[in-house]
Amino acid sequence: MTSHNPWPIVTITNLTTAGEGLAYLADGRPLIVKGAIPKDQVEVQLLKRGPKQDIGRIRRLLVPSPDRCDPPCPLAEKCGACQLMMMRYEAQLKWKRDQVMAALEKYDLSLPVASVLGMKNPWHYRNKTLLPLGYTAGGHYVAGFYGERSHRLIAQDNCLLSTPKAAKIVKTILAFLEKGQISLYSEQTGRGLVRHLLIREARGSGEVLVSLIVNGRRLPQSERLVAALKALGVRSISLCVNTAKGNAVLGQELIPLYGPLYIEEKIGALNFRLGPRSFFQINGEQTEVLYQVVVDFAELSGRETVWDLYCGTGTIALFLARYAKAVLGVEIIGEATENARQNARLNNILNADFYVGKAEEVVPKILDKPGAAADVVVVDPPRKGCDQGLLATICQMAPAKIIYVSCNPLTLARDLAFLHLNGLYQIKKVQPVDMFPMTSHVETVCLLSK
Ligand code: SAH
Repeated sequence: MTSHNPWPIVTITNLTTAGEGLAYLADGRPLIVKGAIPKDQVEVQLLKRGPKQDIGRIRRLLVPSPDRCDPPCPLAEKCGACQLMMMRYEAQLKWKRDQVMAALEKYDLSLPVASVLGMKNPWHYRNKTLLPLGYTAGGHYVAGFYGERSHRLIAQDNCLLSTPKAAKIVKTILAFLEKGQISLYSEQTGRGLVRHLLIREARGSGEVLVSLIVNGRRLPQSERLVAALKALGVRSISLCVNTAKGNAVLGQELIPLYGPLYIEEKIGALNFRLGPRSFFQINGEQTEVLYQVVVDFAELSGRETVWDLYCGTGTIALFLARYAKAVLGVEIIGEATENARQNARLNNILNADFYVGKAEEVVPKILDKPGAAADVVVVDPPRKGCDQGLLATICQMAPAKIIYVSCNPLTLARDLAFLHLNGLYQIKKVQPVDMFPMTSHVETVCLLSK
């Protein structure tokens, strides 16, 4: 029962933020046990001793946690994308809420956190499937994922987060490529044609887009592929040219093979055009839930100016536009703001403006412009959270409300503590939303009022 034991026996007490089991050895050293969940009692095979913690895997599950279930995907462990698949969904939601509370407590913010808004059916929610391609030892074509620390592709033809329709399309494309013996790209040599498959599905319209990411500009026998995909109802088929070495998946240039270069998706009453390169939320159903929380928190009367910082393709700004006097979006990627403007036009939204640049640099430049005074500021930063200078600027602007949409409870808590210490804002509501069932990702919306 000590760390000298070749197979220590431990009870898992928590999950790490990455969703791995965490236990403590008899001498107090933390031990990460992959695939284990809280309340599992396990016999552990130690794999690695680190400076701060040890890493192991389950050798024997002695007493399963009451929250444990059989992961329905046979590849769950190898794939690693669904870190929580062996945990009952209710327990996943509870864990996510606990994560938010624990992060807030770290900064002495003890606030009521609402129950996580989860999905009725937490499967098949991904609207985007992006897979690398490879050959099996027997020379067959497969699409799948790379095993841990390996360059060998593991075939995944029935992902439970992806849709059955996507699975059918993947199968069709693989059959086409194999029949035509069209070469697959090799990262090692930089030779071969087809690199990745991209499939996007619009929930609202049912439209499907397929793009083959290729190391070249032409796909041999493409008419055969077009015919096969048309028969499956695919609306947009293209090549996405990426001839660069390195690990950027998508290239800049798109070559249409069939139909328009985009499909139309709906969120609430709004339409969005999605191309192969557009940034878009992965879980359409929960995106509506998330944005509705933002709308509810904002309580707009139609007279407000709303800022959407880190706005991506402007979806939150556009969602709020019809309840506000004006919305302003700021986003670092120019192509995303281009999409945002197109989407505004598509929906006849005339009161939205989008700016390109770092929020921390753009906001100070535009905050004094006529009509820019913010009543509500929404921020939705990447995992590293908001720039501290930006938070200080927001405090200076002193909007009546700040709505913080976060994909990382730790940086959320840090930034809330900063805003709280500033003295101007009170944290009113904390509402997690489950955007990624079966994974350890935690999304939270937080309302601050002056
Ligand atoms: N609100 C969007 C998603 C935002 S994701 C939606 O709901 O769809 C975070 C966005 O922040 C990304 O689009 C990223 O490109 C952008 N970003 C990252 N750093 C930034 C910065 N310093 N200033 C502005 N935008 C930034």
